[in-house]
Amino acid sequence: MRLRGSTISRRTDDQLRHMRAAGRVVAEMHESIRAIARPGVTTLRLDTVAREVLQRRNATSNFLGYHGFPAVICASVNEELVHGIPGDRVLDEGDLISIDCGAIINGWHGDAAFSIEIATSTPSTQRLITTAEAALDAAIRQMVDGGHLGDIGAAVDSIVSAAGYGSPTDYCGHGIGRAMHEEPDVENRGRRGKGPLLEVGVVLAIEPMLIGGGRNDVVELDDGWTVVTADGSLAAHAEHTVLVTPNGPEILTRL
Ligand code: MG
Ligand code: MG
Repeated sequence: MRLRGSTISRRTDDQLRHMRAAGRVVAEMHESIRAIARPGVTTLRLDTVAREVLQRRNATSNFLGYHGFPAVICASVNEELVHGIPGDRVLDEGDLISIDCGAIINGWHGDAAFSIEIATSTPSTQRLITTAEAALDAAIRQMVDGGHLGDIGAAVDSIVSAAGYGSPTDYCGHGIGRAMHEEPDVENRGRRGKGPLLEVGVVLAIEPMLIGGGRNDVVELDDGWTVVTADGSLAAHAEHTVLVTPNGPEILTRL
């Protein structure tokens, strides 16, 4: 979703109380999925486990029904970059799976993603995943009062480019609050010091998406959702919902 805006909404303490609660639910969904993701498990089973967390925490899903999306998680395997639909696909040793999910508490949203390799450690796969995580970490460090939106994209791009990976130009992070996708777009490339100001109370979903083959091209499959790398190379995705505080960044989607 691509939106434009020159200023970014700031959240009140009361709103942030709900957003922290939603973020904790997302983190719990991630933990539950990590705990069972192994060879022989279907991606649908991962979705079921995530649904159980939502129910237990009296939270609702911002993925289920979003433009008709049929699940509470996106499960994207290997060359699938984002928006994979959970189903009867059985995970295999060495699969790289990216899980993206979110939760709503009292009308306020959280959204986060992670990538893991199933049951083994292949150096090239691990390098892709750890680079995605490093790009996210570097971007999160830009979430400080007085920074600019462009600092985030610049931080992501410097790490992704230095590692020789690609990144799609048509998909990016976003503002988040009463809706999952709000202004502004949080691009994975940018210019330091440019764009709207980052101020205390700003919350953004930051999400580097990496293409192992080094090109930026992606293709959407006929299911209308799954986005795959055009060259068939592996893809990785990492995301957190992050708040600017007077003391620096606060990751809301972490326990
Ligand atoms: Mg997400
Ligand atoms: Mg997102």
